[in-house]
Amino acid sequence: MSQNFPKIAQLNFSGIGCWLTLILTALLLTSVGLGWVVNSVLIVLGLMLILPVIALFAVQWWLRRNVVEDQCPVCQYQFTGFNGTMSRCPNCSEPLKIENGKFKRITPPGTIDVEAVDVDASSQ
Ligand SMILES: [Zn+2]
Repeated sequence: MSQNFPKIAQLNFSGIGCWLTLILTALLLTSVGLGWVVNSVLIVLGLMLILPVIALFAVQWWLRRNVVEDQCPVCQYQFTGFNGTMSRCPNCSEPLKIENGKFKRITPPGTIDVEAVDVDASSQ
């Protein structure tokens, strides 16, 4: 512990020195009549601190609204998708539409997936 102490003290001191330089610069600029520079720098610094927080909240809010966790209507495999998009079940590769927080089959239930075969008229 005693070995770490001088290091921490040094770090704290350099931190204080940094802040002192900033405050001195700010005072100097204010005294020369450039207070608006200090204000704008502070506003920019504040924005730089606040914006990531706002962005994080916005992303979380957006994800809560748009990420849908539901079961595949075909194989009951649970996975996540984005609301209002088309997706494919990772388990059975059924094409699905994500709507109102639910996975829906694009092909309506009851439709049997059969490839259309051209009936040759001559065979009749
Ligand atoms: Zn599936």
